[in-house]
Amino acid sequence: MKVTERLKTGEKVYSFEFYPPKTAEDTAKLFNTALELKALSPDFVSVTNSSSGVMPYRTVALCGVLKSQFGLEVVAHLTCLAHTRAEIAEICSGLKKMDIVNVLALRGDPQNVAAGALRRDYSYASQLTTDLVKDGGFDVGGACYPEKHPESPSPEADIARLKEKADAGAGYLITQLFFDNDFYFRFLDRAAAAGINLPVLPGLMPLTGYRQMQNFTQMMKVTIPEPLRAGIERWEGDKDGMFKFSVDYASRQAEGLLKGGAPGLHLYTLNRSRAAMAIFKNLKGAARP
Ligand code: FAD
Repeated sequence: MKVTERLKTGEKVYSFEFYPPKTAEDTAKLFNTALELKALSPDFVSVTNSSSGVMPYRTVALCGVLKSQFGLEVVAHLTCLAHTRAEIAEICSGLKKMDIVNVLALRGDPQNVAAGALRRDYSYASQLTTDLVKDGGFDVGGACYPEKHPESPSPEADIARLKEKADAGAGYLITQLFFDNDFYFRFLDRAAAAGINLPVLPGLMPLTGYRQMQNFTQMMKVTIPEPLRAGIERWEGDKDGMFKFSVDYASRQAEGLLKGGAPGLHLYTLNRSRAAMAIFKNLKGAARP
């Protein structure tokens, strides 16, 4: 199933994001998570890929296992800063052997690429998108930033660059985290005004604590609305209280997005199932909303 085709049906599309675990114990935990979340019938799961360019086979291999052993449709994230064209072609050939047709084309973060590992073949995700589309076998998605990408001088400049990604052949977009739905809807308006008419899956994640909130604000430059900040501060140190507060906040956000016309939801799971299951339950009963 190609994600772009699935989005064209007009039915809401639900997806979960995983990252490749590093230890045997964490791998077992992830497989357990994947089994539990499979019960919610997601349209796809996605697997992140390290910007560093080190060990891309971990993403490829995990995608293969999730598809062939778990029966899940998979989107492989692929970053390009630390890869040559030839390496990208090799990774793509690995994905094809695993029957993976969906790829999220990404640039990656330069600060995560070791000195000397930066390659010159790709500078931006739109260039990777062009190559993947040219390859012919892939359905390609891209990343977008409702509050603009941190490096971009302005929301307008970021949208103009995003148009290049859309023109290169991205079929849909998945957003960076955001905690105020107005950012998402205003972003859609800006994108439409620039002639970008792709489905945009909102990326959501319940915050799990004060430190995580600070990281997101500092590293990703995302805004934490005052009621969310107050709740995180109020429940810091109380695991159950924090979980309930964050899940309720994300559930209300999800509800507002779906009601407002979002084509579905992409949940950042951090390889855990509990929050995603609770959000689904809040949205509509225990099964898929
Ligand atoms: P691009 O689309 O290339 O944009 C990067 C910056 O360059 C933007 O500021 C843009 O405005 C600007 N730009 C674009 N084109 C041009 C141009 N021609 N000239 C000048 N400026 C330009 N990171 C990982 O390492 N692994 C992952 O698996 C991963 N998954 C992600 C999934 C999602 C849904 C999201 C939102 C992000 C993910 N990231 C991941 C993070 C991502 O790699 C970083 O945010 C990175 O800094 C930008 O990647 P991009 O693909 O959006 O880049």
